[in-house]
Amino acid sequence: MELNSYQRFPKIKIREMKDDYMKFELRETDPSMANALRRVMIAEVPTIAIDLVEIEVNSTVLNDEFIAHRLGLIPLTSERAMGMRFSRDCDACDGDGQCEYCSVEFHLSVRCDQDQTLDVTSADLLSSDPSVVPVDVAARSTSSGYDASENRGIIIVKLRRGQELRLRAIARKGIGKDHAKWSPTATVTFMYEPDIHINEDMMERLTLEEKQSWIESSPTKVFDIDPNTQQVVVVDPEAYTYDDEVIKKAEAMGKPGLVEIYGREDSFIFTVESTGAVKASQVVINAIEVLKQKLDAVRLSEDTEEADEQFGELEYQLLSWLPKHKHKEESSKVRDEMNQAVVADMAAQSPIVGSDPSGGANQLSIHSWIPALPISRLDGGLVRLAAYAKSVLMSPLLSELGLAMPSLRSNKWKGVQCA
Ligand SMILES: [Zn+2]
Repeated sequence: MELNSYQRFPKIKIREMKDDYMKFELRETDPSMANALRRVMIAEVPTIAIDLVEIEVNSTVLNDEFIAHRLGLIPLTSERAMGMRFSRDCDACDGDGQCEYCSVEFHLSVRCDQDQTLDVTSADLLSSDPSVVPVDVAARSTSSGYDASENRGIIIVKLRRGQELRLRAIARKGIGKDHAKWSPTATVTFMYEPDIHINEDMMERLTLEEKQSWIESSPTKVFDIDPNTQQVVVVDPEAYTYDDEVIKKAEAMGKPGLVEIYGREDSFIFTVESTGAVKASQVVINAIEVLKQKLDAVRLSEDTEEADEQFGELEYQLLSWLPKHKHKEESSKVRDEMNQAVVADMAAQSPIVGSDPSGGANQLSIHSWIPALPISRLDGGLVRLAAYAKSVLMSPLLSELGLAMPSLRSNKWKGVQCA
């Protein structure tokens, strides 16, 4: 099919990998893909966290709600989470959310009978499932990376003589979009790989002092002088923070154009830090799996007849319009025209584009704006969006993820049901 011309095969190269930290390169894709992956890692990869607390005795200084909140924020090992059921979807317990398929039970019972203050910590939480325990407790038993003597657990509350805390807690599967306690990540960032071009002719004409002072204008060590040739060389392009300091310095020296620096729009350097609930590498793998499931939902759910009618005409226009321009699609002018035509049509018929708070929709190229919309909007069941997904717009993302590309005319293309 002609629209497959967008297809690319993103590559991942791992640079550094620890249990709770991972750095990797994602290449040969576009920012929408990178951002979709980032957002899913933060907000949609499931973990397990305490969600319901039944206090039996609480004579501590903290009130029940305060303690329940603190318990919720304790990260629990969540390797199991992908296979677990959401309690709202669990038919084994009719949504009660307390059966073995959708929950893990914890008990805590501590009483202080001494004069010294007693710390109640995550280590006092007793789990009904040995695979789901507080992260620091798991780390202590494997002694990986932690100094066991330093690790006293996460403090929940402190007790004085005669005070007692006794409770039962239910941990459930959830995602960061519902509550931050379920997010598996501390941070996920990506940077655009910088593309640095030094104008060698201009650089040659600078004195050594000028070169030195220009290099030093960069707050990070991106450039240096080769001691043998006395030429300015790029020693660490990724140290560049897009601060524009060297560009401003060149202008101040009366040498505009001495260096040109662009962010490469097809290469990204990701940093993922895990809370410990799931290994950092597993967060990435699970995120790709979640993304695939979401796209499958777009493709397979039913009830798009109405959307089909509504957008049939626009789709027809798109399809009849694209082949004419196919061979010129590399030309930015044509691409701009395509964008404007689509965005204008979208804006006229749908609130999605006009109200996009990120404001970037108008600038995005035709094959990237759908995944660039916050993924949560796909969830919201935007039938209109699904109609577009049915047309050319979703195909690059689907093919990049290695999903089958059904024919545009096939009935396999279905949309998202409104939630
Ligand atoms: Zn259940």
